[in-house]
Amino acid sequence: MPFASLGLTPELVRAVTEEGYAHPTPIQQETIPLALQGRDLIGSAQTGTGKTAAFMLPILQRLAPGPKHTLRALVLAPTRELAEQVLQSARTYGRHTRLSAAAIYGGVGMEPQTQALRRGVDIVVATPGRLLDHMERGHVDFSRLEVLVLDEADRMLDMGFAPDVRRILRALPAKRQTLLFSATISLEVDALARAALNGHASVEIGRRAQAADGIEHVIVAVDKLQKRAALAKILQAKPAGQTLVFTRTKYGADKLAGYLKKEGIPAHALHGDKAQSHRTRTLDAFRQGAAEILVATDIAARGIDVDGIRMVVNFDVPNDPETYVHRVGRTARAGARGLALTLLSPDEWLVMADIEKLIGQTFPREVIPGFGQCGTAGRDVGKNRTVSRVRRRRTSLPYASLLTQPPYVSSQALFSMET
Ligand code: AMP
Repeated sequence: MPFASLGLTPELVRAVTEEGYAHPTPIQQETIPLALQGRDLIGSAQTGTGKTAAFMLPILQRLAPGPKHTLRALVLAPTRELAEQVLQSARTYGRHTRLSAAAIYGGVGMEPQTQALRRGVDIVVATPGRLLDHMERGHVDFSRLEVLVLDEADRMLDMGFAPDVRRILRALPAKRQTLLFSATISLEVDALARAALNGHASVEIGRRAQAADGIEHVIVAVDKLQKRAALAKILQAKPAGQTLVFTRTKYGADKLAGYLKKEGIPAHALHGDKAQSHRTRTLDAFRQGAAEILVATDIAARGIDVDGIRMVVNFDVPNDPETYVHRVGRTARAGARGLALTLLSPDEWLVMADIEKLIGQTFPREVIPGFGQCGTAGRDVGKNRTVSRVRRRRTSLPYASLLTQPPYVSSQALFSMET
């Protein structure tokens, strides 16, 4: 299906064609025609599915004919990185329109943002806290607002933005189009959606909590104390391409990056305590391939939109299954393939079982030569079921073709490495 058949104007079709998009992604096919009709939508979609274009293209189409330099679309996003990325998408897809966009987020000076708001922009992409700061100072005029997008609504709630978002909602015109996107539609997201939709009927699109098909999920059974060394071994053997390593804490990210560097593996840490300029620099280096290994916390990694990520490593198992879906969604983007490795120590098996349930697969278990801890993996859990699952080794590869299609990473290539 070509983009033009979705009802987009030639200048938008031209922009996506120039981006190299041949066909709309499934979420775009579902969302764009409905959004163009002005419908309110609740979209279940994570980053990596093309959801930014799914909401941005209809916004650009709606705003293109109207008055310029008038705030008519607001996108709320949980993190600066995501806000920055959505801004870039607005500029990329809107390059043949005369619309302008600005990002509003914390950690940087207020003044340039204030000036942009004063000059007048058509689309504002904002994190809730900083937007409220500007609203309180009277810098924002929502009287002409036509479209609101709540992007990554679940993460916005996880980060404690619910009161801020509700305050912003109260300041917006009741008559508007509202589009809400969330990787998972929990009860909390549902409640926020109801508040945002003002009693309007909405169309629900996308399947819930789904990891991309091109991801090969693999569990690496390893004792907690051996995780760092096991990771170093994996990274030394890793094929070319960017690797994103997730840790649960900022401190953990720093410590792990430091350890890897000592082992001669050039790794960079990315988390919310780093200065914004540092985060931007690190992310740019990663995006361009100058930095191949990034150790990040979940929040910092929210907006990472890098097509070349071949492998995601969960150094710590995430606290909840939805976070796992988000993490692994950084690889296998836009139809590519990737590998998601989870280093799993005995105390983490129960969470992992929930993750497998959500994804609907039992992931193969691997052991790195010299690091295998199969026999002990289930002991802390105390469930025979778990122990026997750990012991079961995989005999066939679900993505054997990965081996013959470089540069995609194959777990077999990693796990057949020499001790
Ligand atoms: P998103 O889910 O918005 O973060 O998009 C994920 C990635 O997919 C981005 O790098 C986009 O540039 C890319 N993308 C979006 N739509 C398409 C498409 N129709 N075809 C190919 N790539 C796309």
